[in-house]
Amino acid sequence: MEPIAYVNGSFVPHSEAKVSVFDRGFLFADGIYEVAAVLDGKLVDNASHLARLERSVGEIQLKLPETLARIEEIQKELVKRNNIESGLVYLEVTRGADTGRDFPFPKADVKSTLVMFTSSKEIIDAPSAKAGVNVITVPDLRWTRRDIKSVALLAQVLAKQAAAAAGCSEAWMIEDGKVTEGGSSSCFIVTRDDVIVTRKNGNEILPGCTRKAVVKLAEERQLRIEERAFTVEEALSAKEAFITSASVFVQGVVAIDGKKVGDGKVGPMTARLREIYVEFAKATAV
Ligand code: PLP
Repeated sequence: MEPIAYVNGSFVPHSEAKVSVFDRGFLFADGIYEVAAVLDGKLVDNASHLARLERSVGEIQLKLPETLARIEEIQKELVKRNNIESGLVYLEVTRGADTGRDFPFPKADVKSTLVMFTSSKEIIDAPSAKAGVNVITVPDLRWTRRDIKSVALLAQVLAKQAAAAAGCSEAWMIEDGKVTEGGSSSCFIVTRDDVIVTRKNGNEILPGCTRKAVVKLAEERQLRIEERAFTVEEALSAKEAFITSASVFVQGVVAIDGKKVGDGKVGPMTARLREIYVEFAKATAV
């Protein structure tokens, strides 16, 4: 059976899920998105994703067409209709479809567009969770408000295409000699003296929901965390490196630009944090 998407109030098969060519998401990338994981048919850390959605839309003065509570209901309904046990729910809200292409915001009577769809994906037993991933580095070409989860993702498209062409699944973006973040993940290293290092939140990076949860879970276990920027050289001389995101949870990085990190295997701290996060995800999913 064809999967179902949600488009502006209706649940429709994917082949009928359409928005106008005048939609500002299409014309200007004038929109915000969120991706939440689904585990055992339930939404993982969704309150955190909805809080970030609310913040992102606020930062660009975009009005959500539904309340956060209603958005969560729709997410759940879609997960149920598509029978998703393990996977992702994507949601996007744009400033709607006007009658032409004018840069300033449309008149108040243009309703925001809200679209959602799901995909099935093995997260817990993904092969890359055990084997780790190889990453390349690329210059960070993005705008300066990366804290907003905007749908303007061309720099990430190019970064992740370059990674794919090099046989890697992620690209680490570099600015002023330091790692900002992955194309679609937050970056971490574990130093020789077991300090977990990840860049501090600010305009330079997206405040990852998984990053936030992992930092909190690590702190609760008295693990040492330092929130600061690091270089690729530091990552290459670290014991371990890993990435976090809603779609991979915690995943070891075993090589950067073809050079091994640590012993080239997923390290014990990464494995432990993944286990802790999976436990948290399962226990708190709604
Ligand atoms: N950084 C960027 C640029 C991302 O696109 C993402 C997720 O897509 C993340 C970090 C990780 O965020 P989260 O853990 O909320 O999925």
